[in-house]
Amino acid sequence: MTDIWLHNTRTRKKELFEPLDPANVRMYVCGPTVYDRAHLGNARPVVVFDVLYRLLRHVYGENHVTYVRNFTDVDDKINARAKESGRPIGEITAETTQWYLDDMGALGALEPDAMPRATGFIPQMVAMIEGLIASGHAYEAEGHVLFRVRSYEAYGKLSGRSVDDMIAGARVEVAPYKEDPMDFVLWKPSSDDLPGWESPWGRGRPGWHIECSAMAFELLGPSFDIHGGGNDLMFPHHENEIAQSCCAHPEGDFARYWLHNEMLQVEGKKMSKSLGNFFTVHDLLEQGVPGEVIRLVFLGTHYRKPMDWTEKKREEAEAVLREWRGLVAGVEPTGPDAEVVSLIADDLNTAGAITRLHALAKAISANPQKDCFYEKGVFLASAQVMGLLTEALSGWDAAVEVSGDVSALVETLLTARAEARKAKDFARADALRDGFAEAGLIVKDTADGAVWEMGPKFDAAKLEALR
Ligand code: AMP
Ligand code: ZN
Repeated sequence: MTDIWLHNTRTRKKELFEPLDPANVRMYVCGPTVYDRAHLGNARPVVVFDVLYRLLRHVYGENHVTYVRNFTDVDDKINARAKESGRPIGEITAETTQWYLDDMGALGALEPDAMPRATGFIPQMVAMIEGLIASGHAYEAEGHVLFRVRSYEAYGKLSGRSVDDMIAGARVEVAPYKEDPMDFVLWKPSSDDLPGWESPWGRGRPGWHIECSAMAFELLGPSFDIHGGGNDLMFPHHENEIAQSCCAHPEGDFARYWLHNEMLQVEGKKMSKSLGNFFTVHDLLEQGVPGEVIRLVFLGTHYRKPMDWTEKKREEAEAVLREWRGLVAGVEPTGPDAEVVSLIADDLNTAGAITRLHALAKAISANPQKDCFYEKGVFLASAQVMGLLTEALSGWDAAVEVSGDVSALVETLLTARAEARKAKDFARADALRDGFAEAGLIVKDTADGAVWEMGPKFDAAKLEALR
């Protein structure tokens, strides 16, 4: 069996992965808050943990892995969105949940085995909070229930910080009803215009962290194997999940291997809604960027390194995938290459695995007289371990038919541009150049004149408007 090595945030070491039960390997990943389209950064953990899920299924068997990813469908951001749009909360969360599944599906992410919604687990959260109060780890104050952070000695172990350091570095909300500024909310009161559930502490709603603890316990038990999410969740979210779960269920040790992906960045800053420096996965798909291209770009950077999305990476990935898809047309996958699998199993070295795929592809292309059917099957199966070259992501690479009309129009416009240049009408020439780019027409000026092709974002209507 392939050895899997994973970098465990908890120990800050790469460790040999040993599941509690190889017949049921269990993983929990924190999912999205559903009030808006997922931005490209939100897709990074989805692709990273999809690769891990696929690897675990490959090693332990498809029916021996349980992957749970939640939907946070009760949150103040959702309430605010409902208020400003005048739409019912349920409508917003249902719509955004479906968008999320569609967009992540377009990136080739398999659906997890369970996708619990927070609002479906309120009684379990209430029960967990009652247990925490009974054991002295939580207390009620003015309709709120708070977790008593000082009651859990190991608090801060995951991120390796002391409680005092964390207080100094975090924006902890100081509230008069808190015993300690570090204490965090498990339950809070809801006014009549906000979603709320009856509880021993009056009508209210859960704090954010308790949902993951309650759902993970319900679906995976008091101890499970892997917990994942972006590294922005390490503190406070994951520290709080650990504190709640370990205090409520001291018989278990909650999650044993903690994996955190680094952030997708824009010019050195985390892509996030609050910074406004984001674009959505849907935007890219709408512009004609195939989901498989996004996936390959993501896998080109190790998950524990920050990454930037760039146009150059997109172009390169698209060219690579066109070539690879051409190579395996009509081929059936056999077993994957052992080296590709062991690279992925080495803390998800997807960049290394891609390099290896390039070498395999090169060896096949170097042998045009041989059909290389076996080698192609191995190559295809290897790519598929990372969710690339799958049937689900196919079809986008079909050569775009260039109609006679488009061809004639492009030639007319290129002639017009040449004439504008000749007449020193640079405004017109530049407008045409910009218009080509805008319409997704790629034009290269060569010694033999202009050559052109339709890019992935080609839009004939925009081209027509340039006449
Ligand atoms: P949120 O809906 O903001 O709670 O985020 C959902 C998931 O996306 C979490 O696992 C976050 O850590 C992750 N995430 C958010 N922003 C980024 C980013 N810029 N790069 C990578 N992951 C991110
Ligand atoms: Zn969580």
